[in-house]
Amino acid sequence: MPSARPFVVPANQRADTTSLLTSAGAATYASTLHDVVDDVAARLAAVTQPWSGASREQLGALVDAVDLDAPGAGTTAALRETAELYATHAVWFHDPAYAAHLNCPVVLPAVGAEAMLAAINTSVDTYDQSTVATLMERRLVAWTAARVGYPAGDGVFTSGGTQSNLQALFLAREHAIERELVGGAPGRGSVLPRLRVLTSASSHFSVERSAFLLGLGEDAVMAVRTDGDGRLDPEALAGALADVDAAGDVVMAVVATAGTTDRGCVDPLAAVADACDVAGVWLHVDAAYGCGLLVSRTRRHLLAGIERSRSVTVDYHKAFFQPVSASALLVRDPRDLARVAWHADYLNPRENAEPNQVDKSLQTTRRFDALKLWATLRALGPDGIGAMVDDVCDLAAAVHTDLADDPELRVVGRTDLSTVLFRYEPAGLAPEHADRLVPLVRRVLFESGRTLVAKTVIDGVPCLKLTLLNPAVTLADVRRVLDLVRTTAQALVEQDEMLSDDTGAGR
Ligand SMILES: *Cc1c(COP(=O)(O)O)cnc(C)c1O
Repeated sequence: MPSARPFVVPANQRADTTSLLTSAGAATYASTLHDVVDDVAARLAAVTQPWSGASREQLGALVDAVDLDAPGAGTTAALRETAELYATHAVWFHDPAYAAHLNCPVVLPAVGAEAMLAAINTSVDTYDQSTVATLMERRLVAWTAARVGYPAGDGVFTSGGTQSNLQALFLAREHAIERELVGGAPGRGSVLPRLRVLTSASSHFSVERSAFLLGLGEDAVMAVRTDGDGRLDPEALAGALADVDAAGDVVMAVVATAGTTDRGCVDPLAAVADACDVAGVWLHVDAAYGCGLLVSRTRRHLLAGIERSRSVTVDYHKAFFQPVSASALLVRDPRDLARVAWHADYLNPRENAEPNQVDKSLQTTRRFDALKLWATLRALGPDGIGAMVDDVCDLAAAVHTDLADDPELRVVGRTDLSTVLFRYEPAGLAPEHADRLVPLVRRVLFESGRTLVAKTVIDGVPCLKLTLLNPAVTLADVRRVLDLVRTTAQALVEQDEMLSDDTGAGR
């Protein structure tokens, strides 16, 4: 009879674990990371424009050429190859000629913290996985809540403003349904189609998409009239609130925006809060962009009234110079968060007395993004961050003034924060022609890699957009970007004239 022998994999067939981060491999960890850091530092020092400008075909070929099924090349070779592919063609948000979207350059304490949290790999879902990290995240939530004006507020870090808005509207939906059920509604299904969200047409698209995800009706999100700068008109809001009520429907939430994505304008929060108080509805303030004002020394007053909301979205990765991702949802009343709590025997049973952040989050496993903000606050203090926020707002104001009587570039609207909307409109250029130039200029500049500007549509009119979030950028830097816009637009107009001459000659 054969004896039962334990099954042992021969040593030469076992996995090579030298690539794992372990105590025994601490020296390898250090040398590996130092190599990566040295490489990125050398690349940073050599950056002269936002990105390489490689074509999509070139990039596609480079990406497709990598054989992901090939035997491993080892950590050093793989990281070298990866940097060559990724870092060579990435977009550098810190470059002074990057002025497109809501991306900020990042501060070093946060980058250091990012390296720390990636290596230690805490998940802040339950206390038994995260211990001190849970307490640090809670301190930062309380710190931000206090800045908002929620003395007993609570909240949770999220992956971004999109997720924060979704969670806020989820809480608001449950609040509204609960109230309707208490009021005699026959069931959840009867309430859902009657729920409405009031917001401005300038609010972020995640509001409408959240309503869709939350099962609301197609017309649930209603655009309230705005002023000339796209700010919610409080009188129109009061009227809309009454209209919904008169129609027998239910306002689930009013969403005000503190810093609209395109214009950087702040809704009149106090007047909006007045209207919400009268109607007794949930006010959510989307301060994904405008949250930097919480630490501003000169512009905090723009947020006056935010403390009267019931929930707030903040994006530290937009206005606190944090690496992606770092965001939070805050609530004035901690009990509101209980609506997301779900209990699992293996993770966070009901009777568990430990402080489990998963009870407040739509995510389960979750990064310790709060560490970055922690290190940043300790390095710069709130005033240090606030001064950077003020700098970018001052810069945008200076650009607006600079362009006030520019013969070619016409500024569109104004901003409370740091955006500049404009069009290339020299005398004699037809408006339709100026419209067509907007996407062309953006694309030509993008493809050159020399400067990145964004485009959008304001009140039906296509515009170019600068989003200025780099406190190291000067007015001279922005003038250089605008000169590139000018010369590109001029060249396109000349080219166009040649083209129309050609077609004319052929007729
Ligand atoms: C950017 C933005 C969002 C979305 O935030 P993400 O972090 O990109 O998910 C929401 N609201 C406003 C006003 C924004 O500008």
